[in-house]
Amino acid sequence: MVAGAAFPAGDCWLARARVPDRLLDASTRDALAPAAPGLRAVSLRVQGGRITALASAVGPDGLPVVDLADGIVTSCWVDLHTHLDKSHTATRIGRSHHTLRDAVAASGEDRDRWTADDIRRRMDFALRTAHAQGTRAIRTHIDWVGASTPLAWSVAQSLRGEWSPRIELQPTSLSPLPLFADADASAAVAAAVAEQGGVLGASVHPVPGQRSLLERVFELAVAHDLDLDFHADEHLQNDIEGLRTIARLTARHGWEGRVACGHACALSVVPVDACASVLRALADAGIVLMGLPLANLQLQDGGPGRTPRLRGIAPLLEARDLGVQVGLASDNVQDAFVPMADFDLLQVLAIASLTAHLDDPLARWIDSITTTPATAMGLAWDGRLRVGAPADLVLLAGRNSFEACGRPQRRVLRGGRPIDTALPDFRELDDTTTTAG
Ligand SMILES: [Zn+2]
Repeated sequence: MVAGAAFPAGDCWLARARVPDRLLDASTRDALAPAAPGLRAVSLRVQGGRITALASAVGPDGLPVVDLADGIVTSCWVDLHTHLDKSHTATRIGRSHHTLRDAVAASGEDRDRWTADDIRRRMDFALRTAHAQGTRAIRTHIDWVGASTPLAWSVAQSLRGEWSPRIELQPTSLSPLPLFADADASAAVAAAVAEQGGVLGASVHPVPGQRSLLERVFELAVAHDLDLDFHADEHLQNDIEGLRTIARLTARHGWEGRVACGHACALSVVPVDACASVLRALADAGIVLMGLPLANLQLQDGGPGRTPRLRGIAPLLEARDLGVQVGLASDNVQDAFVPMADFDLLQVLAIASLTAHLDDPLARWIDSITTTPATAMGLAWDGRLRVGAPADLVLLAGRNSFEACGRPQRRVLRGGRPIDTALPDFRELDDTTTTAG
């Protein structure tokens, strides 16, 4: 579209858009002409905040027309894996870290500053940023290391109410797997998460008793009817027992469609046959595999004074070929884990394309930041563009993946109206970088 083009005050046609095939129902797709591989030429009518027509040309109803000049249109984005409790602490932490262990230690030291006001201001800044970027829903992990409810969880719950429906916020507990050896503490976590409409999560690394600990997680999930979200095998050891066990338990408990696994870096280093067998198990169990390229690039294969050789990204191409649902997400933003990021899923898509060789990501992988995470979150709208769907749209200036990812200009419509896409100024948080709590 023409950058800065004025929008009509009310209902209108969005003419000459390109919409990815993956965001269209089959019947709609088949009725529209291809504009390029994986993209259809569409004019969308927006009335009363909703899409009321997807047509090959503007209809004769006299509504104002906005000419998008072949720019790509997607539904607003869904960020299924973030850490809002830690976001925007990078400046006060003050330096980059290149291993997961170092980042965990630095983040732990920062925790002394986590007052309710500090957390709220950083989370709100993150939500305003994500909203301006074009995101409509976020799942955030919240560190949960004992029986009692963390302060950050309570703050997130408060913001959840304030931000709905601009952003649907879904908190997920993130506990180290060994916490589930404590029957009372783990029961308290699951009960609190269930009571407050959250998701149960754990960080799964190779630890003694891993299988029985994971069984405990699933028992609690079933008992409390909870979806599950794991940080799974985020390392480069030849050990994917965590993923294998999660897949097995998902099938055994009939929890298909209710489990997400993030990272799975170890899949990038294990023998090909072992990798394929676990990917098939993830596909059969309906597990969403979340690729998190920014964190992997920052934290895998790092060490003092050496350039990392391995990328750590899960084998996303092979996963999809074997039938796994694949998503992409921000993960950490502006913290000890990923100091340089901005809750921009278009940037994530571009970096994923470079890291994992996801060719033509707007046409071929747009579902990874829209429909796949929306379904995993159980959102009311799956993100496909159809008659009756909300006109919550990202209008990209780019006409193809090269232009859209290389120069990520956009406008964002919510309920058919443009929102302010100016990003909040980091200077707003200056006093949080200098004042210890
Ligand atoms: Zn994470």
